[in-house]
Amino acid sequence: MVGGTILHSFSILTSGLRADYDKETGLKGQKKVATRKDYYQVLGISPDASTEEVKKAFRRLAFECHPDRNHQEGSSDRFKEINEAYQVLSDAEKRAQYDRYDRLGYSRGFDGSDSFVSGFGDIFEAFFSGTTTTRTRVPERGTDLSCQTTVSFEQAAFGCEKGIDIVRAEKCTLCHGLGTAARNQTIRCPNCGGVGEIRRIQQTFFGRFVNRVVCERCYGEGTIFDQPCGQCRGTGKERKQRRLTVKVPAGVEDGVQLRLGSEGDVGMWGGRAGDLYIHVSVEQHEFFERQGNNILYELPVNFAQAALGDKIEVPTLNGTVTLKIRPGTQAGETFRLKGKGIPYINRQGRGDQLVRVRLVTPEKLNRKQRRIFLELGRSLDKAKAPDHGEKVVQPDEEEFK
Ligand SMILES: [Zn+2]
Ligand SMILES: [Zn+2]
Repeated sequence: MVGGTILHSFSILTSGLRADYDKETGLKGQKKVATRKDYYQVLGISPDASTEEVKKAFRRLAFECHPDRNHQEGSSDRFKEINEAYQVLSDAEKRAQYDRYDRLGYSRGFDGSDSFVSGFGDIFEAFFSGTTTTRTRVPERGTDLSCQTTVSFEQAAFGCEKGIDIVRAEKCTLCHGLGTAARNQTIRCPNCGGVGEIRRIQQTFFGRFVNRVVCERCYGEGTIFDQPCGQCRGTGKERKQRRLTVKVPAGVEDGVQLRLGSEGDVGMWGGRAGDLYIHVSVEQHEFFERQGNNILYELPVNFAQAALGDKIEVPTLNGTVTLKIRPGTQAGETFRLKGKGIPYINRQGRGDQLVRVRLVTPEKLNRKQRRIFLELGRSLDKAKAPDHGEKVVQPDEEEFK
């Protein structure tokens, strides 16, 4: 009924697994973010410069430092820096984020470079007839995983612990996610010679174009690992089968999704792990029906019990209770057993059990029972004679003489 409800941050009872996640530090030295300069300084503008001023400063500096014009040592790096600063400061959203976090030294690994290619690439090409891209290893969030579990009606009502088997990517135990056999041992990338990009010269109808593309071997880092880790082949990750114990809270409904934070695939390069979503199916009960936090139970009652009243044993989730039905109880009448329903998820207390009377008409009667019913029928007719002159159909008396 409340399918898709997401319950946040349920604890998980496995021990030892969390420890792996907490060791996500070894990568810091690899990311370039740590040594990034102040973007405002790079462009030579003040932190409250307008977008127009940012653009102006970039154009001037880009012309000065473009490697095709400026062959001085380091001009390529300087050019990259200018690009990076421009992409962030020219985008209102990125700039706000940068001002708020990154500039103050929270290194989040800002990925500005991809959007440079798509967003600014065209204008840039118009300026310089060529493109330059840079890319650093940015934190990569782990993939969310999902799985399914089935619990009984009672387990859903009172909560339970369920074992769940999953297969997920975890940090390689040998290289701790670095992908390299020898920690911190890198060599200059042989593909790009350490520059991080490849120059491609294209002859076209319009003339000679120099294209700079990011080096696909080192992803623009300029360095690669000397020996890839033998266990994960350099990916830093490996598939692991895990059995997790999940606490299913009391009161869950069929179709609910539980979320276990950071129990999905491991994140890479300092990114956080994905989440694990558990879809819970609740089995139907033999005679209880759930209605929100109430439980509906149909109580079979015969004519005599309904007419004369009775004390009847009624099953509940907490064993049987005695229900007193009064004389003259009608079919479909509902009695309420307070607090015998399903516990509420977000607050104290439980719903009720609703006991609905189902009048059971006997399908077969013996001679004695028939006679009694017949007498009863006559007696009831007399007591409540129709006064509209209608013809009343009487039971066939001949049969019983
Ligand atoms: Zn490894
Ligand atoms: Zn390279």
